[in-house]
Amino acid sequence: MNEVKDIKDNIKRIRQRIEQAALRSGRNPAEVELVAVTKNVPVERIELALKEGITIVGENRVQEALKKQPFLPDNVKWHLIGHLQRNKVKKVIGKFDLIHSLDSYPLALEINKQAIKLGQTVDVLIQVNVAGEESKFGISPEKLTDFILQLAELPALKIKGLMTIAPYTQNPETVRPVFRKLRELREEIAAQGIPIEYLSMGMTNDFEVAIEEGANLVRIGTGIFGERI
Ligand SMILES: *Cc1c(COP(=O)(O)O)cnc(C)c1O
Repeated sequence: MNEVKDIKDNIKRIRQRIEQAALRSGRNPAEVELVAVTKNVPVERIELALKEGITIVGENRVQEALKKQPFLPDNVKWHLIGHLQRNKVKKVIGKFDLIHSLDSYPLALEINKQAIKLGQTVDVLIQVNVAGEESKFGISPEKLTDFILQLAELPALKIKGLMTIAPYTQNPETVRPVFRKLRELREEIAAQGIPIEYLSMGMTNDFEVAIEEGANLVRIGTGIFGERI
């Protein structure tokens, strides 16, 4: 198996599909940023993706990301996309360009506290559990506005957007309403004078539908690196 060529071809194909999905919905493809999800992917394979122009790497476990960071170039942008435990917050301040998974007020308090101690601010997305799945983390859509108002009192937290994970499905059309709902939530929030830059939604299985509904950050793992072992 030629891994170099696989990753190169995969990225090229994913980029084409991103472009087509954006154009289909009348959007500029350049608005859509690709996060290469590298959980379980060793640094050697991540380097191959960087060579193909990948600039953002998404990890869902703090420990794994911190272990890899020293081996990859400084200009790589690191996104934390998985659930963050409060006892790990100290370790993440200053180590990630964006945290996609702010999912509770206690976590927000802890990030704010630790960031202030280090004289930093932290860019975050609020994870919204749009589909109301028991197994998933995230703020419920009904509570989102109040949650955002609470966050306004935490000066070290910079709210950059919303993130959601759609239920797994064979047919991505069935989760279109989930993505649409996140976009509507953004509009509601914007109407209250709070601009929301990012909608992080869409994975290998459903990113085209997510882009059609307004995603501008897509998180793609298997589509780039193949099945995780
Ligand atoms: C693993 C993961 C992804 C990528 O999933 P693929 O189906 O491999 O593209 C995206 N987002 C989150 C939060 C993940 O944990």
